[in-house]
Order: sequence, then structure tokens, then C-alpha cells
Amino acid sequence: MSRATPLKNVRNIGIMAHIDAGKTTTSERILFYSGKVHKIGEVHDGKAQMDFMVQEQERGITIMSAATSFQWRGHQVSLIDTPGHVDFTVEVERSLRVLDGAVALYCAVGGVEPQSETVWRQSEKYGVPKIAFVNKMDRTGAEFFRVLKEMKDYLGANPVPLVIPIGAEDNFKGVVDLVKMKSITFDESSQGLKVIEGEIPADLVESAQEWRHNLIEKAAEQDDALLEKYLGGEELTVQEAMGAIRKATIARSMVPVLCGSSFKNKGVQLLLDAAVDYLPSPLDIPPVTDAEEKETNIRKPDDSEPFCGLAFKIVSDKHAGRLTYVRIYSGSIKQGEAVYNSTRDKTQRIGRLLRMHANKQEALEEAFTGEIVAIVGFGDTKTGDTVCTEDHPIHLMAMTFPAPVVSISIQPENKAASDKLGEALRRLADEDPTFTVGLDEETKETIISGMGELHLEIIVDRLKREFGVVANVGRPEVAYRETCTNTVEQEGKYIKQSGGRGQYGHCKIRIEPNTAGAGFEFINEIVGGRIPQNYIPSVEKGIVKAMQAGPFAGYPVVDVKVALYDGSYHEVDSSDIAFQEAGRIAFKEAFQRAGPQLLEPVMDVEVVTPEDFMGPVTGSIAQRRGRIEGMEQKGAQKVVDGFVPLSEMFGYANDLRTLTQGRAGFSMEFERYEAVPSGLAEEIRKKRIEQNKVR
Ligand code: GDP
Repeated sequence: MSRATPLKNVRNIGIMAHIDAGKTTTSERILFYSGKVHKIGEVHDGKAQMDFMVQEQERGITIMSAATSFQWRGHQVSLIDTPGHVDFTVEVERSLRVLDGAVALYCAVGGVEPQSETVWRQSEKYGVPKIAFVNKMDRTGAEFFRVLKEMKDYLGANPVPLVIPIGAEDNFKGVVDLVKMKSITFDESSQGLKVIEGEIPADLVESAQEWRHNLIEKAAEQDDALLEKYLGGEELTVQEAMGAIRKATIARSMVPVLCGSSFKNKGVQLLLDAAVDYLPSPLDIPPVTDAEEKETNIRKPDDSEPFCGLAFKIVSDKHAGRLTYVRIYSGSIKQGEAVYNSTRDKTQRIGRLLRMHANKQEALEEAFTGEIVAIVGFGDTKTGDTVCTEDHPIHLMAMTFPAPVVSISIQPENKAASDKLGEALRRLADEDPTFTVGLDEETKETIISGMGELHLEIIVDRLKREFGVVANVGRPEVAYRETCTNTVEQEGKYIKQSGGRGQYGHCKIRIEPNTAGAGFEFINEIVGGRIPQNYIPSVEKGIVKAMQAGPFAGYPVVDVKVALYDGSYHEVDSSDIAFQEAGRIAFKEAFQRAGPQLLEPVMDVEVVTPEDFMGPVTGSIAQRRGRIEGMEQKGAQKVVDGFVPLSEMFGYANDLRTLTQGRAGFSMEFERYEAVPSGLAEEIRKKRIEQNKVR
């Protein structure tokens, strides 16, 4: 079998938008116009606010799977879900990893919200070409050209209109297409299905000519011959103009901008046209390489290359079970085939191969380069893993996920729900690499950990709505860590020799601080068989155990190096357990003498506030042991950027609301672990000892 759609007609795109800009509505219209859904659903059908919020979320979830496929003008397009909330930067990053181009969506009234900068910056980091759509042109206060200016000022982008609006607000009728130099309006009786081309309204002719000149000049900048032709007074053909725009967009020297009103069914088809005309196909992006062997281990986007792909999302689907979403970078795969997970050194069989649509799952026999598919049967594959062929192994750049920084205890409402809760948590943790489930050894409580309060709130909400499990949660707690600051040598002995068979484990270790973020490192320096080979892992195991609840305050120990350099053994009494104990004892003693330090997660906090509340806002950061890193004017708003310890940020949303009459907003993301000031660290330690958490 061969591919149905040529690779140059494949598009993998995402919509980047601030919450409320209209991503759901626009996605829905896209699926409607492409024939994937046959009815338009509405977000605000006069339902009570809460009802609609729940419904809206559910709608968002059901319509948009991790990647939804549809056809547009002979192109196969996958729309990859990108989260609207900047708190989920990990989700944003992972979708940016697998898409080739993006649509930046803005509200014509709200414009470029300061928080959308984060996502824009990330997309630039990954080199993602973009087009923009200014939505909600029908709303009072809609201003297309102001949004263009904001894109320039706030994002440093080079936005170039592809269209100009005909009318605005209540009178928004359609657009002038600056490539074809035609007016485009939309027949309201057919929900905009009928697109009407006509002459440019007389009062817009002059401005259309100016903006067309701007468009062609900017687009042709990449092509000297074309620019010369144009500046020499010759007109470009539509083909030439489109070719130049495509080249400039993919080179990221410009961002074509369209406008419309998704809600009023105006302009969405032109957005789709622009997406297939100007955003890159998998052929237009650089080939993927091995993370280490960048020069020698390369896969070109070609069906005849050895297969490789990236698992970028795990979802447990009600009907199909555990789905692994894979972006295929090279080669092809068949249903039933075995592939190699090079990250985990495991073979995985493709049980079923699916293409996900809005309303159905299409079973495929084979899938090709550039496609995004969902696979059933990859039980051992996790988010970020590379899958490939065993005889041509490759490791694509791994995705890095920050460690969870907030924990809460969670209990089922009643005993009967206990198993259900366990299973639901296991599935959620499987889907989300930044969410973990653990057990507090002391209290036997289940502890869930994530990226922030909001992250865990959403998990608890999903438990209820998707799994029907009502759970009670404790107060959020900071995920502190422990580390050491000095190098120390220490002996550990576990020797029992009274009656019967004894115990004999004896080791000497050296512990020292490791680079921040480098984790734990174990070095075996034993020579001459002072400890037999088979007991060396036992010592390490004992140390790793001791590190789970650190000697200082019972928090996990990170970033230490431990060298095992000496010890002794006994022919009869030595055992795995005895050496584990010796390792544990040595580590505990050593760590306490090695200048233990408590570490806390520090967040990068961004507050957006009207000027009037600058005083209270900066005060609120200083009060929370925060450091202010910068202040900027963004339109009418001030943006305050700072670093604040997470422990001080609980309940900040409420405090900020009170301080600013609800006019300021904030977002935060994990920045790094930093040492807790020693006085405070002592207090925390005391409390933990009282709670019996330090053993
Ligand atoms: P999302 O949060 O980005 O997914 O935004 P939604 O698509 O849910 O839209 C947020 C709100 O804006 C809803 O009430 C929509 O009905 C409304 N909306 C979306 N697009 C438009 C539009 O083009 N014009 C107007 N007036 N409202 C819109």
C-alpha cells in the first residue's frame, strides 16, 4: 500500500490561544467546514454560567482529541491540541514539539494578552512558523490594526496582513483578500458555508492597494529576483505572490495575519486556506536527528527511510483503551508490526493503528511519514519515548519534564471507592508525566503530586467527572528536597553475631554534593574484592532507600554523589540485606555531617495589573520572600515579573483579587530549587520531627 495523501500535502498544526480567544469555537468551525461534524454546537446557548463552564470543558475535551485529522482541499491536516492555560507549559512544549506550524489566535478586542507571550516565545524556541487569526471581529471594540501593532510591540513579530476587514463590530461583513484582490463575504443563511467572492468595496480600494503593496514587499524580501520584478513595476501573478508568502512564512521572516469571526461563521475557510497554503509540510522542516549523534544518525522525512517516531501523548480512551499518540518522522508502520522503543530498550507491538477524527476513529492498516496516529498496544511506552526499528535505532531529543512541586493527600469519600480511586490515579499518572502518585509510609495516606495547586485541582475534578470518584484532599504541601554541601567520609556497619547465623555488612562511603539537577550518582571504587561484586548493588540499594526520606527533615535527597571505597565481608554471615543496612546506616550518618540543606521550589511569577495597583502588587511579592526581576509596560497594563518560593504562593489568587479589586491576574511556573533560609529550614525540620516524619 502507498500513501493516500502526498507528503507535501500533509499539515500538522496547532492553535495557540489565550483562554477565551475562541479556540474551541474556531476548532469547531474548522471541523464543520471540513465536513467532519455536521452541526455547529454553541458555547453560549443561554445556559447558567457554571453549567456552561462544565459543558464547555467537556465539549473541548470531546471535540479535540490530542490530534484530530481532517481534509482540506486535498490536504490531510492534523490539528494538535495545545492548552490555552499558560500554567501548563509542559503541555504547550510537548505539542510544539510535534507540530510543524501554528495558528496564533487573538481576540480582536482583548488583543495580545501579556500571558500569550510565554507561548509565543516557546514556539520561537522550537522554530515553529506561524500565521495569525484575529477573531471576534464582530465584537464591540474590535480593532484589527491594533492587534497587529501589539503583535509587533509585545511579541517582536513581523505581522503582515493577508486580508483587511470589511466593516467592524456589528457591521463586520467579511474581508478583502489582498492576494486575489477580491472581497470575500459569507452567506449567513448557510452558516457561512457559501463563500462569496466580489469586487472590493469602493471605499476600501485605496487602503487595499496600500496593504497589498506592503504584503508583496514583505513577502518578496526573501526572493531578490521577485522583489526586483515587483519594484520594477511589474505585477506578480497570484501563484508568484503565494509562493513568496509561503517561503517567507516558513523562513519565519513574517507572520501572515487574517481576521474573522468564528462565532458568526466568517473567515474560517480563509484561515484553513492560509494554513495549507503557507504553513510547512513535514518536507519543509529539518530532518530529525539522534540527540547525541546529530551529524551521523539522521532521518529524512521519507517513507523509504527506516521508521522513527516520537510518542508525545498517552490518553486512556473510554472505548479504545490506552492510546499512544505518535508523530511519525520517517518511514512507515503497519498494524500488527513490532517496533522498537529505543528509550526503554523494549519491543512493542502495534495492536491497532488509528487516525483520530472529531467523531470517529479510523482504523488504518498502514501509516506513513509525517502522520500523527494513535496506537493501541504500546503498554510500555511513555510520553517522550522514541519508537523506531531495531536495526536502525535512534534516540530523538527527549522531552524533559520538571519534577512535581506540590503534593496533597487524597482519600476516597468512602471505602468502597478505594480501588476505583487507585485505578483512576494510576491512569491519570500514566497520561501525565508531571503528575505522580505515592504513599506516605508513615500515615499510609495516598499522596498526589503535580506542578501546582491548579494542576491538582483539575486532577481532582477529572477524578469526579471522568471516573466518578469523589475524593477528599488535604492541604497542599510543598515538595521540599534535601541535599548536602560538604564532602564527608563515613563507615557503616551492620554486624550481628550472637547465636545461629549472623549478619555482616560493612562499608565505607564518601558523599559529596553533585551539580544541581544532576540527581544521584553512585561510584564503585572497590578494589581487590574487599566487598564481593554481588553485594555492591546491595549497598547502593540501601543508600537509595535512605534517600527517599532524607535524614534532615524526611524529604527526598537529591543531587549527591556517593562513592563506595572500602568495606569488608564475612564468608557465612554476609548477605544482601546486611549490606543494604550497612549502606543505609553509613548514608544517614554521613548526610547529617555533610552540611545538609533544605531546598524549596521557587516559581517564576508574572502579575499583570493596572498601573494603579503597582504598589500593592510589588508589596505582595516582597512580603512573600519574593524578588522582583522586572517591570514592564504592556499596553495599558503593567507586568511585574519575579521569583517567589512556592510555599508562599498558596492562596495568592485570593489575596491578589482582594488587593486589586479583582483587576490583576497572575501566572506562575516552576523555575528551580533553591536553599531555604536556615532559620526557616530549622523550623520546618522541627515540625517534621514532631510529626514523626524523620527517622
Ligand atoms: P476558548 O477558551 O479559546 O476555547 O474560547 P471559546 O471558543 O470557548 O470562546 C469563548 C467565548 O467567546 C464563547 O462565549 C464564544 O461563544 C465566544 N466567541 C468565540 N468566537 C467568537 C467570535 O468570533 N465572536 C464573538 N462575538 N464571540 C466569540
